[in-house]
Amino acid sequence: DPRIHAIQSSIRVVPHFPKPGIMFQDITTLLLDPKAFKDTIDLFVERYKGKNISVVAGIEARGFIFGPPIALAIGAKFVPLRKPKKLPGKVFRQEYDLEYGSDCIEMHIEAVEAGERALVVDDLIATGGTLCAAMNLLERAGAEVVECACVIEIPELKGKEKLNGKPLYVLVEYR
Ligand code: 5GP
Repeated sequence: DPRIHAIQSSIRVVPHFPKPGIMFQDITTLLLDPKAFKDTIDLFVERYKGKNISVVAGIEARGFIFGPPIALAIGAKFVPLRKPKKLPGKVFRQEYDLEYGSDCIEMHIEAVEAGERALVVDDLIATGGTLCAAMNLLERAGAEVVECACVIEIPELKGKEKLNGKPLYVLVEYR
């Protein structure tokens, strides 16, 4: 798809951020390019429209940028998966391992009903730990995760292997 190249070019790569050795994929420059941003959303919408998806779950924080426009366009609800202690209602909580230490995300229990078909959205998959935790939250609520969708994948980090065979759709692979 000719749109992919422009999307890729609009993402800024910042060496040694936030710490030495990390090549940070900065999607804020994609957001500054209205055509690239719209094409990004359109590509996801073209893939998921008519697939009977009723939940788009976005992961804090950058999943909150890409998830809602996809949800609106396909006629699904948007469910934020948040850092701990941000949601006021009853939550499912899922911890996951980071390179050093662990992290946690939460989802409102009543946001999703058993049997709903869900799409999980984030900007980037690195080790896959975050998406894996997100899928667990939805599955604990009885939802069926149809697919995970990210703008960027770092294939070297083999995050896909953590998704237990669940399909992953990405627009850009950073090698
Ligand atoms: P994982 O759990 O797959 O190792 O890490 C993915 C999470 O970390 C995502 O929520 C993503 O937003 C964030 N992340 C890790 N590295 C980067 C990066 O280089 N750029 C951006 N934009 N996010 C990153």
